[in-house]
Amino acid sequence: FNIHNVSLTISAASSKQYPDTEWPEIALAGRSNVGKSSFINTLLNRKNFARTSGRPGKTQLLNFFNIDDTLHFVDVPGYGYARVSKKEREKWGGLIEEYLTTRPNLRAVVSLVDMRHEPSTEDIQMYEFLKYYEIPVILVATKADKIKRGKWNKHESVIKKALQFDSTDDFIIFSSFDKTGLDEAWRVIEEFID
Ligand code: GDP
Repeated sequence: FNIHNVSLTISAASSKQYPDTEWPEIALAGRSNVGKSSFINTLLNRKNFARTSGRPGKTQLLNFFNIDDTLHFVDVPGYGYARVSKKEREKWGGLIEEYLTTRPNLRAVVSLVDMRHEPSTEDIQMYEFLKYYEIPVILVATKADKIKRGKWNKHESVIKKALQFDSTDDFIIFSSFDKTGLDEAWRVIEEFID
């Protein structure tokens, strides 16, 4: 997959600001620090394109990345900040839930989990939410380079069990450090945007 141009179309604070295009959109969600920016940068073959995660207290926005004028990646702000207030969390939830449940352009959500750990409560809630609304999920298990290959199957089983993973969803073992899963990730995304 050859990417030529990437740019930020808009950081949207409300649905009125969503791009007025018919391009397919692939959203990306995960708890902060899961490796989402690294995943985006690896797929786009850029070093520092997707800013590394916003910090608590910052306005939470949906970043629409224009990929060759054919596709948007929609970077969903990381969940799981213990320190943000209840009010901020509700605002976060409102914008994102509305986007995920009503946006016609949305084709699938890349849901990232850290392959080293059992999915968190929030990871499980996100997966359940996506399944409830019948939104196609591409599960990406990040930081595979931190686990010995002989243990990959075990970690995959633990994650699938905790999520009650639907075997019709894609599950991709990924590392932005050694590019494990890069071709597979693009292959799966292309299936959803055709
Ligand atoms: P984000 O908050 O989800 O956007 O996460 P980042 O992409 O900023 O990554 C968070 C931390 O995890 C950084 O220190 C990265 O260097 C590290 N990281 C991200 N991807 C990988 C990976 O594939 N392997 C390893 N070992 N570390 C990673």
